[in-house]
Amino acid sequence: AQLDTLDIVVLVVLLAGTVAYFTKGTYWAVQKDPYASSFANGNASKAGKSRNIIEKMEESGKNCVVFYGSQTGTAEDYASRLAKEGSSRFGLKTMTADLEEYDYENLDQFPDDKVAMFVLATYGEGEPTDNAVEFYEFFSGEEISFSEKADEQPLQSLKYVAFGLGNNTYEHYNSMVRNVSKYFDRLGAKRIGTAGEGDDGAGTMEEDFLAWKEPMWLALSDELNLEEREAIYEPVFEVTEKPELSADDDTVYLGEPNKSHLEGQSKGPYNAHNPYIAPISESKELFNDKTRNCLHMEIDVSGSNLSYTTGDHIAVWPTNAGKEVDRFLRITNHLDKRHTVIGVKGLDATAKVPFPSPTTYDAAIRYHMEICAPVSRQFVSQLAQFASTDAIKTEITKMGGDKDYFHEKVASKNFNIAQFLEWVSNGEPWEKVPFSLFIEALNKIQPRYYSISSSSLVSPKKITVTAVVESFEVPGAPHVVKGVTTNYLLALKQKQHGDAHPDPNGLDYAIMGPRNKYDGIHVPVHVRHSNFKLPSDPSKPVIMVGPGTGVAPFRAFVQERAQQAKNGENVGKTLLFFGCRRKTEDFMYEEEWKQWGADLGDNFELITAFSRDGPNKVYVQHKLKERAQEINELLEQKAYFYVCGDAAQMAREVNELMGTIISEKRGVAKSRAEEIVKGMRASNQYQEDVW
Ligand code: FAD
Repeated sequence: AQLDTLDIVVLVVLLAGTVAYFTKGTYWAVQKDPYASSFANGNASKAGKSRNIIEKMEESGKNCVVFYGSQTGTAEDYASRLAKEGSSRFGLKTMTADLEEYDYENLDQFPDDKVAMFVLATYGEGEPTDNAVEFYEFFSGEEISFSEKADEQPLQSLKYVAFGLGNNTYEHYNSMVRNVSKYFDRLGAKRIGTAGEGDDGAGTMEEDFLAWKEPMWLALSDELNLEEREAIYEPVFEVTEKPELSADDDTVYLGEPNKSHLEGQSKGPYNAHNPYIAPISESKELFNDKTRNCLHMEIDVSGSNLSYTTGDHIAVWPTNAGKEVDRFLRITNHLDKRHTVIGVKGLDATAKVPFPSPTTYDAAIRYHMEICAPVSRQFVSQLAQFASTDAIKTEITKMGGDKDYFHEKVASKNFNIAQFLEWVSNGEPWEKVPFSLFIEALNKIQPRYYSISSSSLVSPKKITVTAVVESFEVPGAPHVVKGVTTNYLLALKQKQHGDAHPDPNGLDYAIMGPRNKYDGIHVPVHVRHSNFKLPSDPSKPVIMVGPGTGVAPFRAFVQERAQQAKNGENVGKTLLFFGCRRKTEDFMYEEEWKQWGADLGDNFELITAFSRDGPNKVYVQHKLKERAQEINELLEQKAYFYVCGDAAQMAREVNELMGTIISEKRGVAKSRAEEIVKGMRASNQYQEDVW
């Protein structure tokens, strides 16, 4: 509803021909690139002078820019894949561009022999990603004005392509790409191909992307008279071995995220580009059995300027497991050279190296490359030209080109890149693949987010994390998938508890960090602020639904409200619906609920659902139904309703159920009840923190 209003406003303003001047900084504002400061002789600093995309493209001879609005790196990865493909298959002169690094007032002058592509992830409740906020505000804002044209269709010369990354479990599915194309179309821009939509909720993102881009390339070739040629690999980066340097030299990055870390004087502000190496003050396992461990960790940020408020997220910067690093080095034939120093630079001014250099093969792989993720079909296609035999080449060409065959042979086995290469070549090293291709085709490793499970009122400088250690096995797949970050945290926990050689599942993490700087008890982190918040007035009732690790932020909420009650504040009804398998197995924080319950008195109630304790599976959804009457009454008293945890099923079902409860208890039609739930979401009375 909010966006519709904005749409109308945009239209009215355009029709009225209002011209407002946007005073956006044209200077190079805060340097947001994580490694920019460390590129002593790199390319990003050169590339980062101007916020004028047209000028930038002209200077660097480009005719295709691929903008990305990315939160976790997937959209950025897709953008570079489009850029690479445009260049290798169609001879386009491509570049990628972070949306936050440019201004948009001059898009009305975008030359019509060039094309702009937009790869846009939708975040949370239909929001833009952090780096796309300004871009989105510009186009969705009440007053929009371009530097030259003030007519109704100022973007007539802009040819654009759009793909969105979304999750259909959210109400505002892919709203970024939908709204942006709507705004662009109204402003007269010409879209080439359809506005693609990838769905993470259905787990089909990659295939949606692949299926969308082929017809898009066809349409674009028609539009720009491009001729397709046989795709030849053209490196974006140059990787040079530097025998004159040794890994011990203090100018060589061994995993330090940026220059200040390398120089040993890391300083704030700590953020998504600069982690704080935080000591772990406490760690334990809330439960562990044969298949699952759940960690509780307390991270001490008192030595930093980091702050948080209850409901925020903490990001943990992972390290790849030694076992997988070794596998990668072995199969790509770099094992003997793991500590060889390399310099990596972009071959043109717009290419950004995703990690600082000089570094070593080992450090680049261990700290910066997402080597454990499932291998993508597109990458498999690219590897064919580097196969050592024709038979392998034929086989992987088939895998790359045939979605079903790929699924059967590769995706269903959960291979990561090195496991895939090992399997296809029978362990024979892949000597011909240039290292630059791995840097280009693999994602930059991403920090993982955790809902902070402590209250900032009670413990402002100690942040707790509640995380289940990821591990899953598929029958017929040769490897067990081990979550990168959670197993790393488990290794840290083991170390803290006196295990001299922590090695969960033989994963062998380098927990001492680069140059032993992490000392086995530190972890790189930053804080991300969220909108998942308790009501500012504690007397308002709250209802929380958090099965499994979804209880994490509610531990913080209950802790906070207990403290408020102890401080003599009037704290309203506090209902927590928690679910797990068995009371005796994975019932987290049992003692703490009792203690905080005592502080909150009758106003607190923990309602549990144990799915495996009885003859029938009982989930939080069942318990919500049982309490339908009370929930509806509390909602009518403006209770805040919170859901945290599994997005794909639980949160979606709870959303649906709330419609049913409201419909039944208020005697209104289901469609009306759904409108009410939507209204609650729009006014923040209904909040989700789901993943
Ligand atoms: P990863 O290595 O990232 O793997 C994660 C999953 O990806 C695997 O389980 C598997 O399904 C898939 N996968 C990985 N590799 C492969 C492969 N080769 N083949 C096939 N599939 C593969 N988690 C919590 O436990 N507690 C929280 O409080 C919490 N809060 C969150 C809050 C937010 C806002 C978000 C976005 C996420 C939150 N998460 C939370 C999830 C958390 O961020 C991590 O995703 C999770 O801990 C797994 O991280 P990992 O690095 O161990 O696993």
